[in-house]
Amino acid sequence: MRNLLPPGGSIYLSDARLPGVPREVNFSVKLDPILFLCSITHGLLMLIKTPFFALTLFAIGCLGCAGCQQADSPETGSIPETSDTAPPKLPLPFTPEDAMPIEEHSTASPVPEQSFSVALVYSSGYTIKLGGLEKLHPFDIAKYEKIHRQLLTDGVIADGITLSPKSLTDEDLRLVHTQDYLKRLTKRENIARYLEADALLLVPMSLEKAVLQPFRLASGGTLLAARECLESGIGINLGGGYHHAKPDIGEGFCLYADVPIAIRKLQQERLIKKALVIDVDAHQGNGTAVCLADDDSTFTFSMHQRDIYPIPKEQSDLDVELKSGDGDDLFITMMEEHLEDVFLQSDADICFIVGGCDPLAGDPLANLEMTHEGIKKRDAIIVENCVKRNIPVVLTLSGGYSQDAWRAQYLSVRNLIETYGMKE
Ligand SMILES: [Zn+2]
Repeated sequence: MRNLLPPGGSIYLSDARLPGVPREVNFSVKLDPILFLCSITHGLLMLIKTPFFALTLFAIGCLGCAGCQQADSPETGSIPETSDTAPPKLPLPFTPEDAMPIEEHSTASPVPEQSFSVALVYSSGYTIKLGGLEKLHPFDIAKYEKIHRQLLTDGVIADGITLSPKSLTDEDLRLVHTQDYLKRLTKRENIARYLEADALLLVPMSLEKAVLQPFRLASGGTLLAARECLESGIGINLGGGYHHAKPDIGEGFCLYADVPIAIRKLQQERLIKKALVIDVDAHQGNGTAVCLADDDSTFTFSMHQRDIYPIPKEQSDLDVELKSGDGDDLFITMMEEHLEDVFLQSDADICFIVGGCDPLAGDPLANLEMTHEGIKKRDAIIVENCVKRNIPVVLTLSGGYSQDAWRAQYLSVRNLIETYGMKE
């Protein structure tokens, strides 16, 4: 059963992809009644093809609704419905070798010891707003906003200190994604499928503006945090970490492979040579693994729960699998066991952390039973290891689906800011 649900009802997860996951998550949402009615009408329009009824319903339901536009561009009719189910591994649209011989790279000066401070990247534009319908999705899209607000409320950051990113351009996206995939993203059904959100079929507004734009902006946030960390040592994007997006398909709530794109962009600009991705989200960074496969200039390390999505897994340069219920101590011990080797093998001059907080106990999509303290410690240890080695580091937020997921990440981000200070 798909995860389309009535207001105040229950969400049924895509259980075929998530074995061992609770099959039903209760929730309560308050919908904008006008938008909801309009959405229903819109949905009927899509179902009823008879012109007479369609026109009648349109007149009744959508009168006055200026936002009732399809996301689909005029081109979409000619977009072939191909390769969504079994995407082949395609050659990357861009490789570092396309830009220059690797020995000719001139990397940025290493960050001097003792000078690590945090550059924080955020925009209110990360939040997807669909008149309440966004709350039907298990991902709390408001978590970015909640973390930012709490940092301000608690006086951890001053107003106006965050850096505002720009959206990734089409050219940026093409560093990793295929043109065919980007074309498919102009079609509402594809966006709904990649995000596992059938409710998007009913949203009476342009998905380009309402959905793609926030994803592009948050992905641009990862790029900005990466640029900034080359100077400040630590960049934190209060968003991003879309580690399931592959060159030719989106999945698992991810549309754009923000981390691989940031890596390619910085390589193209000769700011870095080699990059390390440490993915500690509960789900494998399968998209990152595919985007950066067979590439000596990158190293992908994913720690994840074995028996949940994605199944089958892709192959990272190093995969460490955990069992349901493993908890803080085991997670952190296993991570620490591998960090030394990972840094050594990657020889990286930048490290990206995909720091999802779905290992947190109570998460409806994973069962790693970690605590707030464990998540905070996990992130702090990785950053410490980067600082110790003088490697600039970027933290992205990625997944996390429990009610207090945002709080776990807030505590982690707060800890990093209090430890290293904000960039002046
Ligand atoms: Zn996850």
